[in-house]
Amino acid sequence: APTLYVVATPIGNLGDLSPRAQQVLREVAAVCAEDTRRSGQLLAHFGIGTPLLALHEHNEQQLAERLVARLLGGESLALVSDAGTPLVSDPGYRLVRAAREAGVRVSPVPGPCAAIAALSVAGLPSDRFAFEGFLPAKASARRERLAALAGEPRTLVFYESAHRIAEMLEDACAAFGRDRPAVLARELTKLYETVLDGTLGGLRERVHADADQRRGEFVGVVQGAGDDADARLAEGRRLYARLAEHLP
Ligand code: SAM
Repeated sequence: APTLYVVATPIGNLGDLSPRAQQVLREVAAVCAEDTRRSGQLLAHFGIGTPLLALHEHNEQQLAERLVARLLGGESLALVSDAGTPLVSDPGYRLVRAAREAGVRVSPVPGPCAAIAALSVAGLPSDRFAFEGFLPAKASARRERLAALAGEPRTLVFYESAHRIAEMLEDACAAFGRDRPAVLARELTKLYETVLDGTLGGLRERVHADADQRRGEFVGVVQGAGDDADARLAEGRRLYARLAEHLP
């Protein structure tokens, strides 16, 4: 049956494009991509000549209708984003919804996702986690969002770009406290892959001290509130010390 394949592509290392992803990209009638130049390079690397179609946030709604018509007409299509899994902080959900509404088969070709890759090496509780994607660009909105998350018990996963990583860590320290365990995963699967761990305060200092640690693409993983027995113990001691001052 004609199918819309949602295909994950590498987040750095091209070796991560699965054999099945290659086969699907080769066999579909067209590949819908965010940036046709970038995805064109990926396809060319694998010798895949499938035509590309530009699908981005701005034209997704209108294009979705035309693409659904092609699917209903019997063609299979693939959806990719610049890197990683489509729809995860990337366009595509309108197209997927339109295809589903039209009764078209939508099938995943799973693979790389920066959030999951970071979580898989962070060593923070991962049985439950909340994907927060990108924080708002405006400082006030960003601080508000972080403040609203301060009591969230699940591990938090954030995406961040190079030009805001320092500010983000600063604001995260203010909202969650410097002692909150956290991991910063940078340039995963690429040449300068770095995974820093420790506390938010420690990460902030390392990123502040070394300009190289501010380059590239980042995933921040922050332990949830109250999941840290040591932090609870420390807070208990602090409260006890304050109470003790008032005891006779
Ligand atoms: N759909 C993608 C996915 O599945 O991971 C995410 C797309 S989002 C527009 C791009 C963000 O993902 C970057 O700003 C960064 O936060 C994160 N990211 C992508 N590739 C990464 C990598 N190799 N290392 C660390 N973070 C990465």
